[in-house]
Amino acid sequence: MKKVIIIGSGFGGLSITSRLRSKGFDVTLIEKHGDLGGRARTFLHNDYKYDAGPTVITAPYLIDELFSIHSEKLSDYVNLLPVKPWYRFLFENGEYLDYGDKLSTTVREIKSKYSYKDARSYIKLLKHSKRIFNKAFLELSDEPFESLGSMVKHLPELIRIRFDRSVYQAVEKHMGNKNLNQALSMHPLLVGGNPYSTTSIYLLIQYLEWKWGVFYAEGGTGKIVDALEKLLLKKGVEIKKNTEAHKIIVSKNKVIGVETNKGLIDCDAVVCNSDPTYTYKNLLGYKPNKISNNFNLKHSMSLFVLYFSTKKIYKDVKHHTIIFSKRHYELLNDIFNKKIFVNDPSLYLHRPGATDPSMIQNNNDTFYVLAPVPNNLSNINWDDRGDELSSIIIDTLQEKIMPELSQNIVDSFYITPDYFENELNTYAGSGFGIQPIFTQSAYFRYGNKAKETKGLYFVGASTHPGAGVPGVLSTSKVTEKLILRDYGDNK
Ligand SMILES: Cc1cc2nc3c(=O)[nH]c(=O)nc-3n(C[C@H](O)[C@H](O)[C@H](O)COP(=O)(O)OP(=O)(O)OC[C@H]3O[C@@H](n4cnc5c(N)ncnc54)[C@H](O)[C@@H]3O)c2cc1C
Repeated sequence: MKKVIIIGSGFGGLSITSRLRSKGFDVTLIEKHGDLGGRARTFLHNDYKYDAGPTVITAPYLIDELFSIHSEKLSDYVNLLPVKPWYRFLFENGEYLDYGDKLSTTVREIKSKYSYKDARSYIKLLKHSKRIFNKAFLELSDEPFESLGSMVKHLPELIRIRFDRSVYQAVEKHMGNKNLNQALSMHPLLVGGNPYSTTSIYLLIQYLEWKWGVFYAEGGTGKIVDALEKLLLKKGVEIKKNTEAHKIIVSKNKVIGVETNKGLIDCDAVVCNSDPTYTYKNLLGYKPNKISNNFNLKHSMSLFVLYFSTKKIYKDVKHHTIIFSKRHYELLNDIFNKKIFVNDPSLYLHRPGATDPSMIQNNNDTFYVLAPVPNNLSNINWDDRGDELSSIIIDTLQEKIMPELSQNIVDSFYITPDYFENELNTYAGSGFGIQPIFTQSAYFRYGNKAKETKGLYFVGASTHPGAGVPGVLSTSKVTEKLILRDYGDNK
């Protein structure tokens, strides 16, 4: 039986572990931390638990598959609750728009808040998004791209769907109202991209949400991670926590083992869920042998996330509220390109208690609020600026949506780009790996299989197809195909 080591237990690592185990591989999963999940882990702080990262669960069939391939059912482990509405968009002029979960309601909302013309334009935009989805998600998201040729054959359709436009340009072309443009082009931010430079291929996310809906795991996203851990242990996977890979051992261009803080583990192959830029630099010590994959890649922005609980129950606050700053293009330019501290961030507020009453903990409401910020290629010293940004965010929430917030907070802490860099080992503390721009997509993204070293594979946000939970779960489908081609089914 072939032995495979998986480095890292994010959704990428957990999903490839499940897939390879179902094909009979002897799999050992190693994780640096004492808990699993990576960006999707759960933080416990005082008497409260907080989702650390993903809260918007889409394309749940991809999670289901990880159980069904073992003849098990996800629903026996965790309950997925539909979110209603999916998002409330709150604009700087005080207007708001409730978006999802019914198309008819959303179209009516656009019509009543804006105009009949805008509602019709939205339907056209959605049709365009569906066309992109059919090509880029249904056909290409779980296909390996191993050569330029494998990309070229898809070019005619990509040209027809205008991949050269940015998501913002594609939305603007259809809509023409500033608030709607901002709201309907926000999806790239969920996968680490600037809507003004992310290829419009990522407009597919818009239709993907309508196709399968938006969910929240009852008890928190960590319940999905717990469910996967239980499944993997039941299926005979060895899980080693508090085990950090220090070096991937390569002999005669072939992987033979992994050196960790707990000793050496031999293997036939390694799948790295650790960030590829970090992995090549720190665990391998050489650059990948692929022209497009060098260290000048553009990495995503990072995140400042404030987790807090309040004694007041803010029952009028929806589950997912996106609060737009006065500045839009300039703000994103400051974050992605100029990489400077911003004191007027746009915010995403997560209030799980709106969907799941069990997340009202100790009779208090729990939240997190997230602000996109520059990655650590900036010169920002977060030890100096963290408290300042935290106060700005609390003031903004208090003014716009949560009256008397500062008097009601009973627990709080925050993470900065330093957390992503030092704790999760992501290059420059990027929140989502490399950016989803065309020159870093498909064949141009990190390879799911290394070209230069036998037995070396990758999954996770910086590989094809990319970041976000559905993207990352799809990376493991691509990598599974490549491993099965190299080693065959081990059953
Ligand atoms: C705050 C936040 C909110 C988000 N919200 C959403 C959302 O609502 N919906 C959505 O779809 N997506 C969301 N995302 C994106 C999504 O969470 C990520 O794209 C996805 O979880 C990344 O998974 P991954 O497997 O690529 O990597 P990670 O989760 O980063 O996992 C990598 C793992 O490798 C481990 N590791 C690293 N180096 C080593 C080493 N040397 N040895 C051992 N272990 C190591 C790390 O500790 C980590 O556990 C969000 C992300 C963040 C940060």
